Amino acid sequence: MKYRLILFLSLIILVILFWLTLPSKKVEVVFCDVGQGDAALVIYKSWQMMIDVGPNNKKGLKCLENNLPFWDKKLEVVLLTHGDSDHVGGLEDVSKFYKIEQMFSSENLNQYDVIKTDWISFEVVNPAKKVEKGNDNNENSVAGILTHSESSGQGWSIFMSGDITADVERRLVWQKILTEEVDVLKVSHHGSKDGTTDELLEILKPKMAVISVGVKNKYGHPTKEVLDRLTKKGIEILRTDLEGDIIVNSF
Ligand SMILES: [Zn+2]
Repeated sequence: MKYRLILFLSLIILVILFWLTLPSKKVEVVFCDVGQGDAALVIYKSWQMMIDVGPNNKKGLKCLENNLPFWDKKLEVVLLTHGDSDHVGGLEDVSKFYKIEQMFSSENLNQYDVIKTDWISFEVVNPAKKVEKGNDNNENSVAGILTHSESSGQGWSIFMSGDITADVERRLVWQKILTEEVDVLKVSHHGSKDGTTDELLEILKPKMAVISVGVKNKYGHPTKEVLDRLTKKGIEILRTDLEGDIIVNSF
């Protein structure tokens, strides 16, 4: 009898543990704290997209382990914005432990392409044309708008900027490729002053800005210029160097 009770209780505990690790139906975007670099994880039930994987320091991998259930070892989409090591250096480690179903970069994506599943879409706004191997510099970063449109008609959007420069931001504004407001801005190039222009902010009008940046990095990121531009417009600033992983799931 005692034996049965123990078995029964163990079973209940197991079910609870399993239930706790189930992904929720909500969409969650995790801006991973990868030190100086970029990695963001979009989680929708068992579908996950990783936008950049961070530098070669295992922090991108750790972010996956911390935020996905232990049995889910598959990434449906990996999108590499450009070839700098602070964005792609962690790829070898990530691909050692996670099966990558689809891989995108500026070599196979350009403006107007869309990555989509159910209620989530990533609409590419940069580069204007596909880029040849080796030309995947900051200007050619894949940038786009990540949107979650809920069946109720509500939703939210995030501008994912990679490391685009001020010139690219101005093109997107002048050519009216960016015309709508977003809820969140992933600040370009870790807060380098050659980005996050007033022109861009006036169109996007984000409520919140996320800066993915390393503690006391040698580049002086994020720059005072960018912090001032954001503060002047009353935009809330969240930084991975100060807060660790930043999880966004509702606005
Ligand atoms: Zn970078």
